[in-house]
Amino acid sequence: MQNYQLELIEIATHCCDVKTFRFALEDEVTYLPGQYLVLTLSIGGRPVSKAFSLSSSPTEKGFIQFTKKLSQSPFSKELNELEIGQKCNVRFPMGNFTFYGQYPKAAFLIGGIGVTPVRSIFKYAADRKLESSLVLLYSSRTPEYLLFRNDFAAMHKENSRLEIIYTLTDCDESIEGCRQGYIDADMVRQEIGDYAERMFYSCGPPAMVDAMAKMLMNKLSVPEDKIVTEDFIGY
Ligand SMILES: Cc1cc2nc3c(=O)[nH]c(=O)nc-3n(C[C@H](O)[C@H](O)[C@H](O)COP(=O)(O)OP(=O)(O)OC[C@H]3O[C@@H](n4cnc5c(N)ncnc54)[C@H](O)[C@@H]3O)c2cc1C
Repeated sequence: MQNYQLELIEIATHCCDVKTFRFALEDEVTYLPGQYLVLTLSIGGRPVSKAFSLSSSPTEKGFIQFTKKLSQSPFSKELNELEIGQKCNVRFPMGNFTFYGQYPKAAFLIGGIGVTPVRSIFKYAADRKLESSLVLLYSSRTPEYLLFRNDFAAMHKENSRLEIIYTLTDCDESIEGCRQGYIDADMVRQEIGDYAERMFYSCGPPAMVDAMAKMLMNKLSVPEDKIVTEDFIGY
């Protein structure tokens, strides 16, 4: 882990309050897919730091990026006012929520903004043509909050071992191939028939991560050491 002053080179808006912030990075600096950074901003003259999973993959050279759901907090406001070309204080890489081909089969149970490190991992698996079979079960309230849909479609095309299943929890609308409802034991049994052979990953808001881990252990008898989690604490 090291401190860097990185130049902001691009801001992309996904939907109303979700944006990706991209920073220039020298090619030789590297990290593992799924790791996170800590960004420090000066707010009212005082340094404030928050963690963000990298939504970029180490195979994407020249930059790193994170994707944040902006809120009304002073940190979000400051972040939203950053200008292209500004240098920011970034500490990274950190975290053990990583996948780089170490298991033959894995499944990712994700809700909302928790998808950010999975974009990193799936992009890596697509670019490196990893042999592992990966399934993403990704729930969102509404279709516009299903982030990186185009990216995931391209990754699946690149590496057919990457399967992406969407489920919507909070609306009558649907999109092609999309399930309805929360991720629960029945959905895992139905969508991931070989779940007993897989490592499980879940990250995002702590309540969601906790619910997924309990469901896997209590209802599907998945042992604790086959579950990797990351809480977006402070979320
Ligand atoms: C390892 C890790 C990885 C993470 N990765 C991500 C990621 O990829 N993407 C991501 O979005 N988050 C991620 N998080 C969470 C992130 O660090 C922030 O905690 C989160 O984004 C909320 O930050 P915030 O500044 O918007 O809100 P906070 O300051 O944490 O505030 C929480 C809530 O309170 C409200 N609030 C706070 N202050 C005010 C105020 N003055 N006025 C009105 N309302 C207020 C906000 O609207 C917000 O809804 C991660 C956390 C960890 C630990």
